[in-house]
Amino acid sequence: MLSASTNSLAQNRDEIDSVMIRSIYDEVLSNGDIYNNLRSLTKDIGHRLSGSPQASEAMVWGANLLEKYGADTVFVMPVIVPSWTRNNIATATAYMSDGRQIPLHITALGGSVGTPNNSPIRSKIVIVKHLNDLDTMPEAKDKIVLFNRAMDPVLINTGSAYGGANDQRGGGAIAAAKAGAIGSLVRSMTHSLDTLPHTGAMRYEDGVKKIPSAAISTVDARMIAKLYKEDPELEIEFTLNCKALPDVVQGNVIGEWQGSELPNEIITLGGHLDSWDIGEGAHDDGAGIVHTIETLRLLKAVGYTPRRTIRFVLFINEENGNRGGIRYAETASEEYTAGENVYVAAMESDAGGFSPRGFNLDAPDEHYELFKSWQSLFEPYDLYHFKKGWSGVDIGPLKRHGHRPFMVGLKPDGQRYFDFHHSSQDVFENVHKRELELGAGAMASIIMLIDKHLPSPSYE
Ligand SMILES: [Zn+2]
Repeated sequence: MLSASTNSLAQNRDEIDSVMIRSIYDEVLSNGDIYNNLRSLTKDIGHRLSGSPQASEAMVWGANLLEKYGADTVFVMPVIVPSWTRNNIATATAYMSDGRQIPLHITALGGSVGTPNNSPIRSKIVIVKHLNDLDTMPEAKDKIVLFNRAMDPVLINTGSAYGGANDQRGGGAIAAAKAGAIGSLVRSMTHSLDTLPHTGAMRYEDGVKKIPSAAISTVDARMIAKLYKEDPELEIEFTLNCKALPDVVQGNVIGEWQGSELPNEIITLGGHLDSWDIGEGAHDDGAGIVHTIETLRLLKAVGYTPRRTIRFVLFINEENGNRGGIRYAETASEEYTAGENVYVAAMESDAGGFSPRGFNLDAPDEHYELFKSWQSLFEPYDLYHFKKGWSGVDIGPLKRHGHRPFMVGLKPDGQRYFDFHHSSQDVFENVHKRELELGAGAMASIIMLIDKHLPSPSYE
């Protein structure tokens, strides 16, 4: 039982917080810079694959904004990132036994080799749903493999459906090469039935032949599976001229706002500055980048003074290596070991610029009650999702280094995210101004609550 005075203290605390949250939302909804900032990132710079000149440009862009909005210091944490170019050729055609030729919508997967000498490869195909189907499929030898397992449509969490299917994209080329195949195709990772190929990272394994690997659209994958039943002799031809380039030094761009009471306790928030190269990286993760930058602007605009040091981090290389996130966590670990800083909390926005529904808590159980106690403060803004769950790829490595932080992921509505994700349609026009603003309001508000109310770790 709480005593009457503790009770009224808690009530008072909630009132102060709710007034502050209201002013954060008022500010973003009436004076937000976030939508214009996303426009400039996606239209003036465009897509930003790690190692590309646009990624370097985006680093300068981000540093300038963090300075403009009043970060005490802005610096780059250098990171060596992979570089790869899709180049200008990705074509595919299905050849039917009766002479019909059907063009397919194809795009190389990130990191794939090109087809030998940038010339077409052509063969009969096998279609599988699981990587290990190939273990007992000697007929895959010298063929092109199509991985055709759809994202599970009945899962409400589309991220889980994606997670349940993308082993085909990441590991397909390895499994296919082990079975002796000459090429690997995958059905695009989206619930949407359309003609857009969706790219994404793939891997090779030492000692296993590197074969070219690409995605075809969901409509094409479905059509090929149907045609294959009628005509198992059908052949697919495809050509890619993508290739790996030497590594490049880029980096995480960090704006730091010094804490007034506990400057050695660090709160990290961020998204990733790099993006795939066939859209504009607007939802993935331009939205997370401008959410992060706008959080700084909002907390300054409402006159907030942080107790802890807040780091606004524009991570590099999430899409094809996560080297930015790993480097950041290594630094956190070094500073922790040296007794300089404790990274007490981290938050990421990397699930799109859609209407926020709430937050995922990614932290030890002891923190759940505190997190859950904030839910009522957000109900006026239609945020009800306060559950344990996924926080983010970039901040993920912090879990393994030094002090285990209180980690949170912004949870926007996910039903349409994979319509755009990693495709040519991940563009500014597909982000909604007001929904984007609400995301920043949510992020700034919970960062304030974390800063004010998260207990300091004990240092015995
Ligand atoms: Zn992302």
